[in-house]
Amino acid sequence: MIYLDNNATTAMDPDVVEVIAAELRRGPANPSSQHALGRAAAGRLDDAVQRIGACLGSDLSVPGGARLILTSGGTESNNLALAGLSDPDAPLIVSEIEHASITGFAKQAQQAGRAVSFVPVTAGGIVCLQALGELLSGMKSQSTPAATKPVVSIMSANNETGVVQPIAEIASICRDAGATLHVDATQSFGKLPATISDLPADAITITPHKFHGPTGVGGLWIGPGLALRPLLFGGEQQLLSRPGTQPVALVVGMARALELAVQKLSATRQQLVELRQRLEGKLLAEFPDLVIHGQSENRLPGTTYISFPGADRQSMLMALDLSGVACSSGSACSSGSSPPSHVLLAMGAPDWVVESAIRFGMSRFSTAAEIDQVASRICRVYNRLRSH
Ligand code: PLP
Repeated sequence: MIYLDNNATTAMDPDVVEVIAAELRRGPANPSSQHALGRAAAGRLDDAVQRIGACLGSDLSVPGGARLILTSGGTESNNLALAGLSDPDAPLIVSEIEHASITGFAKQAQQAGRAVSFVPVTAGGIVCLQALGELLSGMKSQSTPAATKPVVSIMSANNETGVVQPIAEIASICRDAGATLHVDATQSFGKLPATISDLPADAITITPHKFHGPTGVGGLWIGPGLALRPLLFGGEQQLLSRPGTQPVALVVGMARALELAVQKLSATRQQLVELRQRLEGKLLAEFPDLVIHGQSENRLPGTTYISFPGADRQSMLMALDLSGVACSSGSACSSGSSPPSHVLLAMGAPDWVVESAIRFGMSRFSTAAEIDQVASRICRVYNRLRSH
């Protein structure tokens, strides 16, 4: 099977598997236990968190400074940010193309009476800055207490199209309006530079299973001085922000995965750009009428979202699966079902485009030989489906 579904999740780097296994073999590790084993686990946990901070360019050792809240993954980090960065009735602004862990939270908050606005995107899939500015200018937030300021949540790069969002401009609009900015950077770590100066936000979601780290763990980075209301209640771990025993082995794995991603970043970017060009080039040479979403925008290297005129995405996906290609028809978060892409709909794509869209996501483990194989299998499958 050739794996091109790396926006859904990635294979763990063997080095990360090793450090997690070594950590698990050490035996019981509850960092809150007062005995020597617990204290040692707390030391290793703290070391891993500091190393994550170093990769992000953020010193996490200063009391009252920036913090990394450890969570179970991207969904929890996103929910925690939207629920915790403000009072529950502060205005919330999210884009129409956010991941379901943001839009799902936003919709239920709206039903519960919170003022929620959805920012539209351009046909190329970029968050409309003018609309964001207009929404914020209607909300006088500069002089209000931090907890009642509007919270804006925009992703660094879209998980379906790969289109990179102008976070620096968005941050400046939010700063001028006195709004708090959360960035869901789940898809960009390991593919784009992702230090705090690259992502000038108040809070950032980190999800290691997207950069060859473990699933079941994640982080929410919070800037200095920002308060966070907890989503969960229980023990006193993480200064009450997120109770529950921290999974030391997974956090150590997350730190290693992030270090590897940062070390390999420029080579990975170059490799992924070339692989995507190779795939798109071969397919377009055969079928010039393919639609490549966000093609003229800055996209995550290695992500391509393509509509195949006349094909049905579900049939195409199944046929590719049978031919040994793992890809997807958009977000993987709908447990096997495949509703039409809310991202393409927000970009104003016509029905036939939405109904025939397939996403391919490469990783640093993808090879040119695999891409050549995939291109020829896609051509075979598409020719067959089209002729039916
Ligand atoms: N945000 C984005 C942009 C994603 O692509 C995903 C997963 O696909 C998530 C959040 C959710 O992450 P997790 O599956 O770790 O909960």
